[in-house]
Amino acid sequence: MKTPAALTEQFRSQGLKITPQRVAVFDALHDNPTHPTAESVHSAVVARMPTVSLRTVYQTLNDLAEMGEISRLEVGTGSARFDPNVEEPHHHLVCESCGMVRDLHVEVAPDLGDDVPDGFEVAGAELVVRGRCRSCADKD
Ligand SMILES: [Zn+2]
Ligand SMILES: [Zn+2]
Repeated sequence: MKTPAALTEQFRSQGLKITPQRVAVFDALHDNPTHPTAESVHSAVVARMPTVSLRTVYQTLNDLAEMGEISRLEVGTGSARFDPNVEEPHHHLVCESCGMVRDLHVEVAPDLGDDVPDGFEVAGAELVVRGRCRSCADKD
C-alpha cells in the first residue's frame, strides 16, 4: 500500500473525495501487519476521531481494494480481513481461536498434475495455514 500522502494524491486525481476521516483510515492501515477487519480499523480510527462511521470505513476500504492498494482476504475467521501488503506476494497463517493472521513468506508451488481442466490458465494459488497461536494454546 502507498503512503497516506500518496494515497491522498491518488484519491484526488481520481476525483474521489478526500476527507480527514478517509486519511485516518489510510493511517490506520499503513504498515499494519495485523490484517485488520473493517471493525478493528473503525475502532482504531474512532480513537482519534470519534465521529467516523463504520460506513465511511467500509467505503474507504472498498475504494482502496478496488484500486489494488489493499487486498481483501477471506481466511475463515468470520469477517473479511484487509491486507495493506500487496507489494510482495505471500501466504497466511491463521489462528483459529483468536483470529490472528500473519504473513507467511514461503515458496509454494503445488504440483497440479492433470487435475487442472484442459486450457485452464493458473494465475496463482494461496496457502492458508490454520492452527492455534501460542497464547491461545497456553490458555488450555
Ligand atoms: Zn490465537
Ligand atoms: Zn498478508
